[in-house]
Amino acid sequence: MITYEEALSLILSHSLPVGIEECALADLLGRVLAAPVEATSDMPLFDNSAVDGFGVLTGDVAQASSESPVELELRGTIQAGDESRWQCGPGSAIKILTGATVPASVQAVVMREFCQEHNGIVVIRQSARAGENIRRRGEEFKAGEQILPAGIRITPPVLGLLAGLGHASFPVYHKPSVAVISTGDELISPGQSLQPGQIFDANSFALKSAVNALKIDRCARLHTPDDRESTKEVLMAAFESADIVISAGGVSVGDFDFVKDVSEQIGIETIFWRIALKPGKPVYFGRLPATAGRAQKLIFGLPGNPVSALVTFHQLVKPALLKIMGLPNHEPLSLCARLTRTIRKKAGRMEFVRGILRTDSGQLQVEPTTGQESHMMGGLAPANCLIIFPLDDTILPEGQAVIVELLSWSDM
Ligand code: AMP
Ligand code: MG
Repeated sequence: MITYEEALSLILSHSLPVGIEECALADLLGRVLAAPVEATSDMPLFDNSAVDGFGVLTGDVAQASSESPVELELRGTIQAGDESRWQCGPGSAIKILTGATVPASVQAVVMREFCQEHNGIVVIRQSARAGENIRRRGEEFKAGEQILPAGIRITPPVLGLLAGLGHASFPVYHKPSVAVISTGDELISPGQSLQPGQIFDANSFALKSAVNALKIDRCARLHTPDDRESTKEVLMAAFESADIVISAGGVSVGDFDFVKDVSEQIGIETIFWRIALKPGKPVYFGRLPATAGRAQKLIFGLPGNPVSALVTFHQLVKPALLKIMGLPNHEPLSLCARLTRTIRKKAGRMEFVRGILRTDSGQLQVEPTTGQESHMMGGLAPANCLIIFPLDDTILPEGQAVIVELLSWSDM
């Protein structure tokens, strides 16, 4: 069996973006930049005022204060959106509003709060440094300068930045299409009535929602009973429609576990099967090689127990999907916290223990949830982190500092 780290690195090395498309500004939220963002011109575009105030020569107001105000002749007003029509000379001032062009002759803008205006005269009660309240052309970026690299998720500020640079559209990575498959004769859909021995299908709903939470909307939900023929049909249909196939169940060593065999039968190249991990021992990963007409496709065969399916999705499939969507170097956020109670396991498998992370007087504490078996969704549902229980350790005592990884079903 390979380790979790080896499995993750194999998965990431096979996870490549599926293409690039030009996307309209209005639809960019949540997409990933496929090109660096560069300044299309100097930013700001022109010298402009940071405040509503009066443009002056600094020499004219050098002695201005509330005790000795200075009177200047008001030449005119420049509003945001105006061209700069007025020039400032000795003894004069120009009213300039926030964002309006500051003419080259203006040396500083005094805030309106320190000025009074009447009958074409402005009384200034404060001195000003050269350049005060003037936002200079190019002070943030010079034309052509890189502002953001590719591979960044488009959040509202990134979208605002693109709009501010004048982009009506921008290149982004394609989102992959996904198919999730639940396997098992025992499964029926929630809402139907259970016959003896049957259970409700939790995985196809949980996994589809986990895919959707990453802002991948194209996700089919399929089911196959436990027989070779149906498994083959459903897998082929899934690969027909999707770039990434995620199955749950039927991947262990049981008499009715067909996912791996059938995958190989339909041309999937096995990259690994089984990881020294709990939950997640039977995880299967394979690849349908690219052909002339289409890119490679991937399959993740996750375990059937619902906790195992979701934890392995979070720890193995999510990093792959994020990388395929163009988000490189996705590192989960890990923290150090004190265990509130002792936990034990056998050596030889790394374990992701479901936990609740809290702060207690500024100290991070983590409590393993009740119900750590892999069929117990009650132990995963309230968890906000996974406690890393290293491969060869057998005990982590109460009070020990442990590494936890935050559970995040969205991006990070
Ligand atoms: P398997 O890996 O197929 O042997 O399944 C392991 C366990 O998970 C069994 O107890 C299954 O009944 C259960 N299981 C498999 N698929 C699902 C599902 N979609 N929803 C809920 N439980 C499932
Ligand atoms: Mg099964």
